[in-house]
Amino acid sequence: MTRKFSLALVTGAADGIGWATAQCLATSGWHVALLDLNGELAKERASFLGEGHTGWACDVTSIEDVKSCVTEIKATYGSIDALVNNAGIADQTVPTLVQDIDAFDRVLAVHLRGTFLMSQQVIACMTEQSRNAEGVRGAIVNIGSIASTGGIPGRNAYCAAKAGVLGMTRALASEWARRGIRVNAVAPGYVKTSLVQKLTEQGAIDGVSIARRTPMGRMAETYEIANAISFLISPQASYITGVVLPVDGGWAALGAPDTVLGPIEV
Ligand code: NDP
Repeated sequence: MTRKFSLALVTGAADGIGWATAQCLATSGWHVALLDLNGELAKERASFLGEGHTGWACDVTSIEDVKSCVTEIKATYGSIDALVNNAGIADQTVPTLVQDIDAFDRVLAVHLRGTFLMSQQVIACMTEQSRNAEGVRGAIVNIGSIASTGGIPGRNAYCAAKAGVLGMTRALASEWARRGIRVNAVAPGYVKTSLVQKLTEQGAIDGVSIARRTPMGRMAETYEIANAISFLISPQASYITGVVLPVDGGWAALGAPDTVLGPIEV
């Protein structure tokens, strides 16, 4: 029996990459459930997208929030065909010796516990659903980072969390492949969002240096990450699971000082 995929759940969907992803998926014909800490904004965004889209208040670190949201979304739509584990926060950017332990724990909780809790609840729904023509029941995309594989001084929790997201992606992909659930990750470079804006204002990052270090010579726009996420959950990616797709303008490919790149053409 085949089934048309239709409902995608996106966490952290009220802003940044999550909001761009919700818009991209809606344009591609998906119904989108937008989850965010800021439930009011998620609902506003959903009504902007129109009929068939819904907004939900959800802290992805709270098992109560996650369980009740996933249960209500499943009851509303009948199926959950895709999950984008996007919710995230920036790290404290201070030297290791003065880092706050509660802040460290919160970064790990949002990225790792959040990805785990959401995946656990959604996979339980997906396994009860029928397969499509390619044998797929559902697809999950997690959000890594260039910090998944490269170290950034002072950002211990974020680098550990994002490395962990890739590990969890591979573990879930291996465990669930035979049950028809695909799990992949994208690893963005620097993207123009309010998260990056805040880091810039704190002096933790500097846009000119980032552009210089990026072979393509610029940061990403949010829709460029959304397009990659949209591909990975789509039927076009039906035989892809357990991969990490860098969407970083060539950042991870560069194995030499940025002086080899030459000037940025405008
Ligand atoms: P934004 O801050 O722009 O958006 C993140 C959204 O997630 C916000 O609406 C935020 O709400 C929400 N959120 C935060 N914590 C929770 C939570 N516990 N439960 C539910 N929602 C939550 O971030 P980006 O769009 O930049 O980042 C999205 C993802 O992409 C993150 O996982 C990030 O680590 C990753 N990423 C970002 C890069 C970048 O350069 N921007 C690069 C690589 C990866 P609130 O505003 O209230 O906190």
